[in-house]
Amino acid sequence: MPELKMPANLPDPIINENAKIVLQRRYQRKDTEGVVYETVKELFWRVASAIAAEEAKYERSTVKPAKLARDFYDLMTSYRFLPNSPTLMNAGTDLGQLAACFVLPVADDIEGIFDAVKHAAMIHKSGGGTGFAFSRLRAKDSVVGSTGGVASGPLSFLKIFNCATEQIKQGGTRRGANMGILRIDHPDIMEFIKAKERDGELNNFNLSVGLTEAFMQAVNEKADYNLIAPNTGEAVGTLNARDVFNILVQKAWESGDPGIVFLDRINRDNPTPALGEIESTNPCGEQPLLPYEACNLGSINLGLCFAKGRNGKDSEIDWDELKRIIHLSVRFLDNVIDASVYPLDQITEMVGKNRKIGLGVMGWADLLYQLQIPYNSQTAVDMAERVMKFVQAESRSASKQLATERGQFPAYPESTFGKANLGPYRNATTTTIAPTGTLSIIAGCSSGVEPLFALSFVRNVMDNDKLVETNPYFEAALNSADAYSGKLMEEIAKVGSIKKMDHLPEHLRHVYVTSMDIEPIWHLKMQAAFQKYTDNAVSKTVNLPNSATKEDIWDIYWKAYEYGCKGVTVYRDGSKTSQVLCTGDGD
Ligand code: UDP
Repeated sequence: MPELKMPANLPDPIINENAKIVLQRRYQRKDTEGVVYETVKELFWRVASAIAAEEAKYERSTVKPAKLARDFYDLMTSYRFLPNSPTLMNAGTDLGQLAACFVLPVADDIEGIFDAVKHAAMIHKSGGGTGFAFSRLRAKDSVVGSTGGVASGPLSFLKIFNCATEQIKQGGTRRGANMGILRIDHPDIMEFIKAKERDGELNNFNLSVGLTEAFMQAVNEKADYNLIAPNTGEAVGTLNARDVFNILVQKAWESGDPGIVFLDRINRDNPTPALGEIESTNPCGEQPLLPYEACNLGSINLGLCFAKGRNGKDSEIDWDELKRIIHLSVRFLDNVIDASVYPLDQITEMVGKNRKIGLGVMGWADLLYQLQIPYNSQTAVDMAERVMKFVQAESRSASKQLATERGQFPAYPESTFGKANLGPYRNATTTTIAPTGTLSIIAGCSSGVEPLFALSFVRNVMDNDKLVETNPYFEAALNSADAYSGKLMEEIAKVGSIKKMDHLPEHLRHVYVTSMDIEPIWHLKMQAAFQKYTDNAVSKTVNLPNSATKEDIWDIYWKAYEYGCKGVTVYRDGSKTSQVLCTGDGD
């Protein structure tokens, strides 16, 4: 690819204090002694130019790489859009692995299992996260043909993956994240459900139970269901579905783990069933993928798509600006596929067939604050649908445009799109809502589609650095209500929320809500609203107060199913002393 020279008049990016620390620690290039030799401006230019340079290989492209590099640079340094961390870290470098999400198969033999351990290590080294289904592994104590001995089962192997992950530091600073999934009808399912009973156990894994429609129906009917030996396909036992569901709920109440994913629903939306069945998602659950598939993500900062109406009234979303950002971001993410070097040939091949990208949003809570819409309201849920419908439609239209310039994704003819004759697309999926744990720090916005955890708080970042943060939109609102004072900020930083601060104006307490002020049902309704228009899945945690009961969690799990979510993760305040990765702490 031709090297694109940095223009002399390229403006310096404005960087917030938190971002400075994060970028320096993990994103800016360092020499062998660990000394940073790349400025933030050079970092963003490295990424912008490497991704734009891919344009040159498309003869029918209507965009000049140099102009595109500048557009990408402006897009990122205005924090309107950021690609996932591996792209920021590795674009334009020798490593060149740019995707955050991978799924690897785990075959039912020793060679296959240890291949997967090795492949996961290679992916973690490059900053990607891995998901695995352990459902194909034969149950504990079943016979091993070659030796006549007995198998040790999925759980014992999970521990090996966990241990291996522990030893591989990602990009020198962060550990790899994993998702482990087991089907509800696997004979070892009870052991799996209880696997994280003890705090710190399997700490490099998020676990999710793969639920099926048949199982959910059996829960509803209080019926028994069969456990199936994966190696023989035979029924080897039965459990009562309602009892198992109750234990699942009990464990989630105790520790937040395991989460649940609805496998049939995920496969209903599998755009290329001819290429295989989806058995797992990436670590944080937002990206279901086929075995050996990878996906790169990127997020638009909705907080910057706010348009103030005249006289401060009739404020709205700047839809034209949002459309412009979506189209540019889709081109960016499609180029990332070409620019990325994958650690395995099988992955290169699978990614090449489907060309999945995952464009999502962050800064949602910031946008709601500006629109003066409380997160826990039907107005907010309706707005979520409206926004995501727009993002999905425009990203698909951008993908169609790219198909005319570059051709459709190779698996298109055998895809559900192809079969329905929907017209050629460049990408088998275009939308995913990521947690944006680190991206939101760099962009200085609220993460993903989550409400704010606190209006003002102290954030621990890598190696116990402490960063104090106050939401800027809240601060501005306090100022315009003439309510700002140093003493008040101290008070708020202690509790995070202003819900109970009667001395503050009612409208502020109504709009500036935080995750703990929001009833669980609104968390779920918001997730479902975004899911409705998201090709892949939505990263979202349903936060519950410590006082939440098991019945509350039962209700959430069941409603997640009824509302059409692809899975659900709950977290009851104080139920776990150490949280798994992907909280934005980044260590
Ligand atoms: N991820 C990972 N390790 C981490 C954080 C993230 O492997 O410590 C992967 C994982 O697949 C996750 C995805 O990156 O689901 C997206 O996470 P997030 O949006 O928080 O990443 P960011 O791009 O903000 O770093």
